[in-house]
Amino acid sequence: MQPLSHVLPPSAATTADGHLSIGGCDLVALAEEHGTPLVVYDAGALRDTMQRYLQAFRAHDPHAEVIYASKAFWAQAVLRMVHEEDLRVDVASGGELFMALHAGFPPQKIVMHGNAKDAREINEALEARVGLLVCDSLDEIALLNHIAGERGVVQDVLIRVTPGVKPSTHEYISTGQLDSKFGFSLEGGLAAAAVAACRTATHVNIVGLHCHIGSQIFEIGAYPVAAQLLAAFVKEVGRDGLDIMDMGGGLGIAYGRADDPPSVEAYADTVMEAVFAEWDAAGLERPRVMVEPGRSIVGRAGVTVYRVTGTKDIPGVRRYVAVDGGMSDLMRPMLYGAVYEAILPERPEAEASEHVRLVGKHCESGDVLIKEIDLPHLEAGNLVCLPATGAYGVAMASNYNGVTRPAVVFVENGEATVVVRRETYGELVSRDA
Ligand SMILES: *Cc1c(COP(=O)(O)O)cnc(C)c1O
Repeated sequence: MQPLSHVLPPSAATTADGHLSIGGCDLVALAEEHGTPLVVYDAGALRDTMQRYLQAFRAHDPHAEVIYASKAFWAQAVLRMVHEEDLRVDVASGGELFMALHAGFPPQKIVMHGNAKDAREINEALEARVGLLVCDSLDEIALLNHIAGERGVVQDVLIRVTPGVKPSTHEYISTGQLDSKFGFSLEGGLAAAAVAACRTATHVNIVGLHCHIGSQIFEIGAYPVAAQLLAAFVKEVGRDGLDIMDMGGGLGIAYGRADDPPSVEAYADTVMEAVFAEWDAAGLERPRVMVEPGRSIVGRAGVTVYRVTGTKDIPGVRRYVAVDGGMSDLMRPMLYGAVYEAILPERPEAEASEHVRLVGKHCESGDVLIKEIDLPHLEAGNLVCLPATGAYGVAMASNYNGVTRPAVVFVENGEATVVVRRETYGELVSRDA
């Protein structure tokens, strides 16, 4: 288990029975009690990471803000914890806004994103009185100004800018390039036009800029590059009103043994020092910095436990190991070619003895959880745990093939709490007329 420990939650340990435990809870016992697939989060690790984030950024400026990107994992339990820990929350749709409000967030602490907000969502944001709305198109600015005018309110906004920095990560999740559906590019004058549109709009109050250069970023040197471009832009359009610089999210996590992501502290130092240095160098008053981490808060804290339903040896080809979940609870392997590790809750220390392909239960050949992996011998009935599934795992779950979405359990100090129960068959037909 040693080499895998850095992809597991920090509380991962081996019990007296030789089982894998997290938060003092035996995963074998949890799987028995709650069924599989089961998503297990180390609640202490979630809280610790949130606190580390705030401390790391506020060490540079007590007014820095950490905004949790709720799309990474949006259960009420995690949203309530985010609020308790004094982070703000970012939502990217009317539904995410509803969930944040339902979890008790004061509207002022909510930041509303989305590249295609419709009139209904803008009305919902204004009705709730969200703190910040991040504008993503000229159409949106015009629509927002119109709706806010009808309601007799003025909405504080950030403009989402795409500085054209492309950090080395998977192409599909890089959003800071020029050719992107998100934001306004610096190049070609789109961002300047957006700032001008806000400044002349009567019911839109621009208070800063936002940029999100990508996700699963290990090359944090991309942030200073972005900061330099952004400072030059602020100088060009004038600092007036641009008090906030939201640097987005994107810090990567370890999915595999070979991955070595920067720490939250190194990331905070890089971002804060770069923004302050660039604004100082341009002779601009320093902005209030905000960041929006998602994955790096919840990713490592969560694991998914599956049960093996059967194996298949194809002579001269490979051994397949099928489990009782798959693309309906973990889309990332299919969507991005993401590579996960696996560990056996019943025998975490066992030596690998066979080369297998770990597949899901869905009617798609592409429903592969791990393409190639060396694992100890597995047969029907055994458990398999995939570490680092806490971000964009259950958050992207679907009902494909009529599969019910898994239960989610928080573990801490030997206690397990079901925070989302397993979906029922009845719920599969509950919306049908
Ligand atoms: C997804 C997203 C984030 C969070 O990204 P992570 O890589 O999970 O940290 C932050 N801001 C915006 C605008 C996003 O779309």
